Formats: sequence, C-alpha cells, structure tokens
Amino acid sequence: MKRIFLVALAGLASFQLSAQNIDKVITREYTDHLIKTLSADDMQGRGTFTPGIDKAATFIESEFKKIGLQPLTGEKSFRQSFSKTRLTPQSTSVVIDGKTIAPENILTVSKSPQVTFNQGNADSFIKLDTTKTFLAQYRVLSRSGKKQVVLVDNKFAADFKRYKSFAGRGAMLDDKDLATPAQDAMVFVLGVTDIKGNYNVEVKNKVEKLPLFNVAGMIPGKSKAKELVVFSGHYDHLGIIKTVDGDSIANGADDDASGTTAMIALAKYYKAQKNNERTLIFVAFTAEEIGGFGARYFSEKLNPDDVVAMFNIEMIGKDSKFGKNTAFITGYERSDFGAILQKNLAGTEFTFHPDPYPEQNLFYRSDNATLAALGVPAHTISTDKIDIDKLYHSVKDEYSSLDVENILSTIKAIAKSATSIISGADTPTRIPKLKQ
Ligand SMILES: [Zn+2]
Repeated sequence: MKRIFLVALAGLASFQLSAQNIDKVITREYTDHLIKTLSADDMQGRGTFTPGIDKAATFIESEFKKIGLQPLTGEKSFRQSFSKTRLTPQSTSVVIDGKTIAPENILTVSKSPQVTFNQGNADSFIKLDTTKTFLAQYRVLSRSGKKQVVLVDNKFAADFKRYKSFAGRGAMLDDKDLATPAQDAMVFVLGVTDIKGNYNVEVKNKVEKLPLFNVAGMIPGKSKAKELVVFSGHYDHLGIIKTVDGDSIANGADDDASGTTAMIALAKYYKAQKNNERTLIFVAFTAEEIGGFGARYFSEKLNPDDVVAMFNIEMIGKDSKFGKNTAFITGYERSDFGAILQKNLAGTEFTFHPDPYPEQNLFYRSDNATLAALGVPAHTISTDKIDIDKLYHSVKDEYSSLDVENILSTIKAIAKSATSIISGADTPTRIPKLKQ
C-alpha cells in the first residue's frame, strides 16, 4: 500500500514536472522572439534566391545551435544545400515567310538553353482551335516536348498576353535535366494566320544556377535511432510583391513564420526532455511557395521508409474555424496519425479535427505532400481559415495580425500529441504510395 502510494506520488511528481517543463521551455517570450524575427521587414519577405532568405536561414541555424541540435547524418552544417537551374526566355527570333515577328507577339516555352529550327527539321506548324479554350490547348502543347510553331488567332490576344508573362518567369530544372538538355521549343505566334513557305526560329534562354538550402537538425533517438520523426515548416515566403498602401514586403508572418516558429520551439522542448527513443528531425524547408523544391530535395536525401511520421506545420497564427484550442490535420482519414495525436491529448482542452476544407486540396498544397506520396504518414497541421483569410499571400500577413496565444497553445498541443510517436509506443499507419 505504502509502496504503491509512493510510486503513484512519484508518477504524479514527474507528470507535474514535465507539465511545468513545457510552460518553462515554450514560453510566450521565446515564441514571440522567433516569429517576430522571422517576419521582420529586414528579412524582406524571405523570398527564395534573395538575401532575405539567407538571413532567415542564418537565424534558424543560430537557434538550432543554441538548442544543441546536431546536423543531419552526412551533413557538415545545418544547411542542407542544393541548387536548381533557372531557364528564362532571353530572346526568340521568328521569321515567317520573310517577315520578322515582333517580340510581343511571341511566347516561348522551352527547356533548352538554345534551339534553332525551321520548316525542315521541326514538327509541322499548327493553329490553335478557336472553338476550344486557350488554356486547355496551351497546357497540352507547352508540355509536349516538341519543336513547333503554334499560330494563335487574335481572338486569344488577352490569354496570350497573360501566359506570355507567366512563361517569362522561366522554368526550374535539376542539374540532371541539363546534362542532356532537351531540344524542345513551343513557339506561340500571335496574329499570324498561316505559313505559306519557310520559317526560321531561334530560341535563347538565360541559364542561371541558383543556390537553395533547407535548414535541418536532429536529436538522435536513444533506442530506435533508425526510425525518424520529422517536424517541419517552410521558412521561405513571397519576398517583395506589389505595393499596397506603401508596403511591398510580404512578411509571411502566418505563412509560414508561424509553422517555422513551432518547429524550432518543438526542437527546444524535445531537446530539454531528453527522452526521445526515435530520432527527431527538425527542418525548415525552402522554396515551398515556388514549387516545393526544398521538401523534394529533403525526401531524396533519406529513405522514406525510415520516416515514421511527419508533422508539417503551416499557418497556425490565428484561431481555426473550430474555435480556441483547436487545429486541423490535412489528410486526416489517410492514416491513423490524427487519431493517435487526438488520443494523446485526452484530458486536455485541445482538439484536432479533420481538414474542413477538402475542396481546397490542402493535403497536396504543402510540404507534406512529397513524403506522403512516398508512403509516409505525412500530414500538415494548420489553423488557417483558408476560405476567408484575406491576408493570405498579401503584404498584410504581418506579426501584428497574429494571435500569439493561438500559436503557443497549438505548439504545446503538438508537443503533447506527439509523445507516443517519439517514444516509439505508437506507429501511424502508412499512406498508400503514389505510383511514380
Ligand atoms: Zn505556406
């Protein structure tokens, strides 16, 4: 009796200690410091390929160092560096039946640094069908990989202009794509109705090798070090965008300085706990907003079968649709990840819910999607009211619009909800792999 009483008391004491710990480690001041720094104007909106994102990465590295994380296996530092090559249309000259076409009437889609062709060595020219939409035809043709001239009726002038500016941003390629460059070029020409004889096309793209870097650290697991649990948020945002009311910095305080803050605070908490049986990886992804390149590179550097679960955190800066102390999990029904998290929160006032916006396809719109496609129970936790969020992707997504209490309660809920996964007691069911 006595002994049981003592054990119970000891259990109670240790529970209280860890409950105290969480409030001591994840404080409002700490959370505030992280999110304020990441969303400050001097980070210039953390645009990928800008000095702003470099500054943000340096800050995250310094926090990882203070916490005492280790670089990932095989990496010398917290920066997981890679590169992409951007091909941007530089010039396309088109001469049809002896007449030079004005540059504003040419739209080029090409993944080759340089291509030259004429009627003798290309796919024969075609005309867009005026009874179908421009977009439907553009989509198919721009991915065809052919060398071809496409004549576009003036009826499509407005669409042509829009997609010309879109194509003008260029394409991002991997080094391996350029080892044997494609010889493709779809050249859309506006206002020419027919080609009677000869034509000649010369396409030149500007080629730039651009550096990218995730910031990643880990806490090795005690007994199940090969089994990985990933906590992530993307630290890039849109950079400098169109000026509204004199402000052009897209601070991305909610999107996704809030999730990055959560990821760092969780690293600090678990490092202080010192009880993870599985290896915990903490990663700030780059280039989410321009195509998810950071998450893709990260997924290629490890064996997805070793990843037991991924907690990706996106936009937790304001109350969710379900009210205070709630968050939702994308793809809730695809594994029992959500049910495990919910079970670990029993007795607390916090609840997780399935994604209330299935029509928004959020499961595929964040960095969880890459690992989920590879079979990992990889989900995004969010509180954003995406259907009515007027600040989303605007210069007004600033620190002052956030509810730091909501961020704090969500981080603490995630910390508690992950307990049985990091201890190895629970293993979420796998998500079916997408066929590649
Ligand atoms: Zn985001």
